Order: sequence, then structure tokens, then C-alpha cells
Amino acid sequence: MLSKVIDLIKNKTTLFIILIIGVVVSFYTGKLVYDQETNAIRLSFKGDFSDKVQALQRELFLTVEVVHGLKSLFDCSENVEYGEFKTMVDSFLSRHQDRIQGLSWNPRFSAHQIDENAPNFDGSLLNDIRKIFPEFEITERDAHNNLVHVDVNKRGDDFFIPVAYIEPYPSNQKAHGFDIASNADRKKTIIAARDTDQIHATPTISLVQQNTRGVLVLAPLYDGKPVTLESQRELFKGVVVGVFKVGEMADQAMKSTAVRNLSFELLEGNFSSPFTLESIDAGGFDTIYSSAKDQSEIFSKLSNFAEFDTITFANRTWGIKGVPFIDYVEQKRSLAPWLVAIFGVLFTISSILYLFRILAVQEKLKSLTVLDSLTKVANKRGIIDYLNYEWRRCMRDSQSISICMIDIDDFKKFNDTYGHVAGDRCLQEVAGALQEATTRSVDMIGRYGGEEFCLIMPNTTDPNIVAQACLEKVRDLHIPHTSSTCSDYVSISLGLATTVPLKDDSLTNFLKTADKALYEAKNLGKNQVVIAGEVEHGHALAGDGIGLRSKKSTTKQPW
Ligand code: GH3
Ligand code: MG
Ligand code: MG
Repeated sequence: MLSKVIDLIKNKTTLFIILIIGVVVSFYTGKLVYDQETNAIRLSFKGDFSDKVQALQRELFLTVEVVHGLKSLFDCSENVEYGEFKTMVDSFLSRHQDRIQGLSWNPRFSAHQIDENAPNFDGSLLNDIRKIFPEFEITERDAHNNLVHVDVNKRGDDFFIPVAYIEPYPSNQKAHGFDIASNADRKKTIIAARDTDQIHATPTISLVQQNTRGVLVLAPLYDGKPVTLESQRELFKGVVVGVFKVGEMADQAMKSTAVRNLSFELLEGNFSSPFTLESIDAGGFDTIYSSAKDQSEIFSKLSNFAEFDTITFANRTWGIKGVPFIDYVEQKRSLAPWLVAIFGVLFTISSILYLFRILAVQEKLKSLTVLDSLTKVANKRGIIDYLNYEWRRCMRDSQSISICMIDIDDFKKFNDTYGHVAGDRCLQEVAGALQEATTRSVDMIGRYGGEEFCLIMPNTTDPNIVAQACLEKVRDLHIPHTSSTCSDYVSISLGLATTVPLKDDSLTNFLKTADKALYEAKNLGKNQVVIAGEVEHGHALAGDGIGLRSKKSTTKQPW
């Protein structure tokens, strides 16, 4: 199992895949941390947004309170003098001037109280007002949006709610006398207030001089205390109105908490369905306030963080959309996701390098134990391990296995003639030549010891060709050997045996057969290959095999 894992690790493709997986996992983990952070920022934004909404709610609550206060003045007194009205309004204005465009009293007029030509004309209410404002005229807007005297007959209506008292007067002079019921939307709101005895806010209007939107918050006034709808309609005698600046109120709300780098928008429209980005995109909403006065101020908004809420005051609902600016989010981001990803990648790379190092050390150790230090081919241990392994495999797969015992001819004489150093060099060159002759990767050449080599060839159809190639390659080295009994140059003798090992076959027997063939080659005059006859089957002893570890098996070896 472990060796399989090691083999896998040795494979460069595997290491590359590990690297890729490591990098992907690292970045994925980084992304998870990033997403966690994003959720935390989203939550934090939700909190900041909700703070702003609450602040706005307080602002709007004040508007209702002011109108309530003014209403109570008219509820307590049948005829409110202009001076009383002004005193009270001035006290409100001194506290809320920036939010309030104006506060007014709008008595309800019937047609016969305006039309002097009417047979039942009653000018008392008009006269009362004209005592203070002699120029008082009831006006409305014509088709061209010009202010004109109200045309009672043309309106065919009996419901007029003109502005009678208004403060601060100078900035609202144009509105004085204007019949707010002449506008369909506002009339609807007045009727709703009248029929419910509740404070109502109108849809917003443009306050031209202020370059902002205004909202009219109005409270109904009655003669006495009506209890039924009929009596509310009958006793209705006008409204008190507060015109509030939407921009100022929302700006106050924005300023009430420290967080600035977010965009805050107020919208009015139809809130019958859930208020979301989709419903805004679908249309039908008007923006009545945006906290970003200058569009260039909005570096960029992160719509995917958008929060939505609705706020209801004076029976009117506004939508609120909050979106953080990029820097709101950036300020809250940390380096953690990147650090996690980079650390993961570094960890992967260092792990792979460490694996490489371990493998290199292992390779080194292995080569030290199975390689012959002089010739750099396999040593006896390597050869025997490989032979044992291939013998069993060929036995299992019913494949042939060939072994070639190789011995340098008259090597003692070579040493005697040229010395041991030349002898060692000769061994190296012969080993190199033998290696060259074996081209298949499964063939293995090894040095048994001394000037003897062994060649293992699993599943080879014509092992003799390889043996002959070995013979030729060594001859072709042309290493002079003047004292050789068989050639002018260094030569080898080879004994070749081939078998398809059966279950009870003996490996020792197989080796003996090859060894005998080598012995015969020597007897036949050296410098040649002798192919052994058929290997005898059977003869396997219990635990037959060759090895170096057990003393018992070492003594059994034929060489
Ligand atoms: P034959 O042709 O019958 O094989 O004769 P031979 O002389 O090659 O065989 P023998 O077994 O008589 O001699 C083997 C010699 O190989 C003995 C030893 O001096 C030499 N030898 C063994 N190992 C080494 C080695 O590592 N280096 C050197 N230089 N010589 C070695
Ligand atoms: Mg020998
Ligand atoms: Mg020899």
C-alpha cells in the first residue's frame, strides 16, 4: 500500500495534480473566508441601514406631533385668532424651522360661502379672514398651471379647503388662498383624513424655491366631536396642514448616525407588493430623496448589498433603499481571505518540495543498497530481489523468463598484466557495454561480484539475440588483453537458460542450469554464448527461492 502511494508520488503528473488540487483548495478556502466576511459586512450594513431608517422614523414622528399640536389649538377654540395661530406656529418654527416649509389653517368652504352671486351666499367666513388679510382670494391652478380665482361654477363642487392662515407668511405668500382640494390627489387625502379623523400625509409635491420635495401632513378639524362617519362628514370644518421638507428631514436622519458612505433613497409609489429591487426596477416608484446630492460623489454603489424597508407615517408609506458605497465595504474587508489562500498555496508547494526531498533521499538510500558502487549496475541484492519477483510473476502469468550468466574471460590474467586499477576500469566498461546491449526496460543487468554479471530477461521471445549483442558489445570495446587465451581483446563467456516456470519449479535449479551453460562455454574455448538445454521442471524445495537475507538460502546458492 505504502509503496503504491510512493510510486504515485514519484509520478510527476501526480505531483502536478496535487499542486493543482492544493492551489484550488487554497483559493476555495480563501473564497469561503471572503464569503464569510461578505456576510459579516452585509449584516453590519443591515444594522447601519436600520439605524438610518429609525432616525428617519423619528423625524417623521415629529411632523405628526407638530400637526397634532396645531390641531389641538383649533380643537380647543371655536374661533382661533390669527395672533394665537401665529404664536403657536412661531414656537414650532423656532424649533423645527429647517424641516418646516409652512404651517397653515385651511377652513372648509362650501360653494355658497364663496360665490357672491349665489342666492344663499354667506360671506361671513370670507369676511372674517379678510379682516386680517384684506386681499384674501381663493385660488386654484388652471390648465396652464397659472394661479387663478377659483371658479365655483366650473368646479361644480362644494368642497374648498383654501389656505387661510399660513406661517411663515413671506415665503408662502403665493400659497395663501390656494385651495388645496383643487388637486385630485390632495383632495383624496383630505377626504381620507376627514372620514377617519386621522392625520394623513399627501403624496409629495415639488417645493420650487427649496429645490426639494415637500409633504403635506394634514389633520381634520370638526365642529364638536363626531362619532360616526356621517357626523364626521357633516361636522368637518377644515384642516390644519404642515408642509414638511423631505430633503431636510432625510438629511437630518442621515446625519444622526456616524456612517456616511452609503446611499439612502426615499421612494413613493405603490407598496401593495413586496418592496424589492425587482419591484423598483419594474417601475411605478418616484425617488423623492437621495442622500447623494452630487452624482459624482457616488463612486460606485454595490447594489448586491442593497437593503429595502418601508416606513409608514400619517397613513402614508415610503420605500427606503440603502446601498453601500464601495469604500464602505472595502474599509471592512481584511487581508484574511488572501492570507488563507496564499498560506494554502505556500503550504502545498512546501509539502511537495518536502516530498521531493524525501523521495530523493529514499532514491539515494535505495541506490546505495541495490547498486554496485564500482560499475553502477545492480548489485547482487538488486539482481536477486528482481529475479525472485520476476520468477513468481512469470510463474503466475505463465510467461517465459531467461537468465544469462556472464563471466569475463581470463580476468585474473588481465589484472596480472595491467594491474587492478585497469581491471576496475575494465569492469566498468564491460558493465556499460552490457547495459547498452539490453534495450528493454524490463531487462536487468547486475554484477554478482568479481568479474561475473547476470542478465535477467523476463518474457523475451529471443533471449539469444540479447546474449549475442552482449558478446558483440564487449568485443567492440576493443580493450587490449594480450594475456587472454581466447582473444586479443577482453571478451566474455555467457551461459543462457530459458524456462516458463511452473508451480513446483525450483529457481535454484534454473540458476544451476544457466551456470552449467556458462561452464560449458568456458570449456568450449570461452568468448561465446552457450544456450542451456531444457530446464528440468519440479524439484522445488519448501520455500525455494534465492536471497541474501537468510543464511540458509545463501548457502543453497549454486555460485
Ligand atoms: P576464467 O576465464 O576461467 O573466468 O578465468 P578468470 O581468471 O577470469 O577467473 P578467476 O576466477 O580465476 O579469476 C577472477 C579474478 O577476477 C580474480 C580477481 O583478481 C579478479 N577480480 C575479482 N573482482 C575484482 C575487482 O573488483 N577488481 C579487479 N580489478 N579484479 C577483480
Ligand atoms: Mg569467475
Ligand atoms: Mg573469469
